[in-house]
Amino acid sequence: MSSVHYRLSCLGCGRSLEDSSTGFLLDCASTHAPALLRAEYACCDFEVHPEEPGIFRYRSWLPIRRALPSPGRPVVFPSRSLGPRLGLENLFIAFSGYWPEHEAFLMTCSFKELEALAVCGRLPAGSEHCLVVASAGNTGRAFLQIASEQEIPAVVVVPESALAQMWTTRPRSSRVLLAVVKGEADYFDAIRLGNMIAAEEGYFPEGGAKNVARRDGLGTVVLAAAEALGRLPQHYVQAIGSGTGGIAAWEAAQRLGADGRFAGQAMKLHLVQNAPFLPIAEAWARRERRASFVHGSDVKERIALLHAPVLSNRQPPYGVRGGVYDALQASEGRMYAVSNAEARAAGAMFESLEGCDLDPAAEVAVGGLIQALESGGIGRKELVLLNVTGGGSRRLAREVERYPASAELEFGVEEIEAPAVAGKLRGRKAAAWV
Ligand SMILES: [Zn+2]
Repeated sequence: MSSVHYRLSCLGCGRSLEDSSTGFLLDCASTHAPALLRAEYACCDFEVHPEEPGIFRYRSWLPIRRALPSPGRPVVFPSRSLGPRLGLENLFIAFSGYWPEHEAFLMTCSFKELEALAVCGRLPAGSEHCLVVASAGNTGRAFLQIASEQEIPAVVVVPESALAQMWTTRPRSSRVLLAVVKGEADYFDAIRLGNMIAAEEGYFPEGGAKNVARRDGLGTVVLAAAEALGRLPQHYVQAIGSGTGGIAAWEAAQRLGADGRFAGQAMKLHLVQNAPFLPIAEAWARRERRASFVHGSDVKERIALLHAPVLSNRQPPYGVRGGVYDALQASEGRMYAVSNAEARAAGAMFESLEGCDLDPAAEVAVGGLIQALESGGIGRKELVLLNVTGGGSRRLAREVERYPASAELEFGVEEIEAPAVAGKLRGRKAAAWV
């Protein structure tokens, strides 16, 4: 597979760019307001290649250089009991995680594995530069797993509070390191440390929402729905932290809309945050493109209260051109705020009715679906796709051996400055790159 099947288009100035041959092109070089790049594919019609493994059945719409031999992909099926209980006639579940009866085998139990697969497939084979990924939890676990599987040099950076979620279902490769920021650190601190590591020679940043492979990997959820349903859902429900999954869903829907078979089928976004940390919901309620998220004395206290701490990005790609604000506006979308108690009750209802345990973030999404029905945001006869972004981890823990990951690199928040970071990396590099 070559990279000629896609180019990158800047959503700020419209320039069409070729991807970097060694790493990832993440930004346009022109001077203008912040804007995302978007992959533009040579193939304008939706193609499925069932002979390819996992998400690579959608390879025509993935910005990859190679398909990885990994079977994980999202699965889409009609709700057995939750839909009827809620009075919804056409509820479909897009599930990413471990649920053997539905042939769902994303072994880290989260849709973040979709982005890890696409991002790793975007790398040239045999690349010796080291990928740096910052995460609040699930993304880090996904990259530990997929980079290990593919022997891709990587450093995963997480706050210490996420350490318990760092495990793999295969022994970790010695080329894949885990770094933690200790103490009261949160996702934002992990991002700061990740940026600093990525600036060192031999390292490069994964790029988060700026990475088109991350977004189009997550967008395979909507492609899987289009394949299963033969049309776009009218409503798409997902819990968000950064909102990257929401942007990705919207982009996938736009791409499908350019194919005559799906033309004119609007898909409305219903994005859900976990109260009391609601930066995007609050900014959207004011219809403000330029919102300041990082500041505020009580931010860390609010994050510490969350049922789903992965939904805690303090610097989401919201106002950037092509970001969450644009996706909500273009799809006439809605935002919801779900409390911890609502999320727990919704998760328990899902598990008892459908028979699978959910990630806290997916429980928040189910709570959002209930609110959307109660508020009239979704009609009971309409076609709804609930993105269950993670599940099956409690069952997996019983059925599959897991390898807990311990950190090779530890940093205090006060050590997130260049000399300390460079010094610690020097000590580790030789061991990891032999
Ligand atoms: Zn540009």
